[in-house]
Amino acid sequence: MKPATFEYHRVGTVGEAVERLGELGEDAKLLAGGQSLVPMMNFRLARPPALVDISRVAELRYLTREGDTLRIGALTSHLAIERMDAPELLDGFSFLKEAAHWVGHYPIRTRGTFGGSVAHADPAAEWCLLAVLLDAEIVARGPGGERTIAAADFLLGFLTNALDPDEVLVEVRFPRPASRAALHEYARRRGDFAIVAAAVAVDVEEDTCRSARIVIGGVDDVPVRIGEAEAALAGSRLEAEAIEEAAQAAARAVDPASDIHGSAEYRRHLTAVLVTRALGEARGSEDGARSKNGAG
Ligand SMILES: Cc1cc2nc3c(=O)[nH]c(=O)nc-3n(C[C@H](O)[C@H](O)[C@H](O)COP(=O)(O)OP(=O)(O)OC[C@H]3O[C@@H](n4cnc5c(N)ncnc54)[C@H](O)[C@@H]3O)c2cc1C
Repeated sequence: MKPATFEYHRVGTVGEAVERLGELGEDAKLLAGGQSLVPMMNFRLARPPALVDISRVAELRYLTREGDTLRIGALTSHLAIERMDAPELLDGFSFLKEAAHWVGHYPIRTRGTFGGSVAHADPAAEWCLLAVLLDAEIVARGPGGERTIAAADFLLGFLTNALDPDEVLVEVRFPRPASRAALHEYARRRGDFAIVAAAVAVDVEEDTCRSARIVIGGVDDVPVRIGEAEAALAGSRLEAEAIEEAAQAAARAVDPASDIHGSAEYRRHLTAVLVTRALGEARGSEDGARSKNGAG
């Protein structure tokens, strides 16, 4: 398939992108890595009359650490996260590196961008799950300057975000390290979007779980936090019974739809399996997560 006719505008700075979006009107779209937008245009699921290509905006391609905060420029590729090796970046954030491996296939990871993935707002996207899990802040720049939006407020619905039509997502900030975090998912074929994904983070002091966060993707229009499962872990020693209780609470709490990829019942089953795996890994890891994909 080929896309419908569109105008193409390449820009060199964020300022130019904002200006061009303002001129072109609300149906114009930014083009970053093109790994979601171009397939949608080819299948005529999206027909933007104009594209503003930001892929060469060098100021948006960076990964830096400021104290506890990890700052990811919007155009940072999935591959750059996968290849992150500086100790100061990895300390408390190695779960990102591990999760990157499961974003699509290698060619997609070379071109696809962190900001594009969060802006695209797919409910099973790894970066969306981790952003909600760890209270990431999304920085947007528009004609009036910059504003910061909490990840949970940024993801409004299926492929829907909180940006105004003339705003550019410029940065995603992870404000705090998470030394015990893990993401597990299941897809039928390696590289596909997950049918269900589970991301967890636990705070452990003196062998006791002080708090836990659990977010499930693929069961609703946005990644969902599961308070019932988190409550089952607080004060526990993350022993098998507590993990099983949390996994079952998560499976009861989700309300997935059935589709061609799996029934609601199957997704509930996957939720319990993946929460169990992710918590087992987070419990065992002091310095980050190990993402896994495999039969559920
Ligand atoms: C076969 C296949 C498998 C895939 N598997 C996965 C997977 O397992 N997990 C996963 O997470 N993703 C997966 N993807 C999607 C991939 O990760 C994309 O790279 C990502 O969703 C979008 O990033 P992009 O830079 O390519 O954005 P684009 O495709 O260029 O843009 C996507 C959308 O975001 C908007 N946008 C992009 N950048 C910005 C910005 N800075 N500010 C505001 N809006 C912006 C665009 O206007 C567009 O609406 C897969 C894609 C394919 C084709």
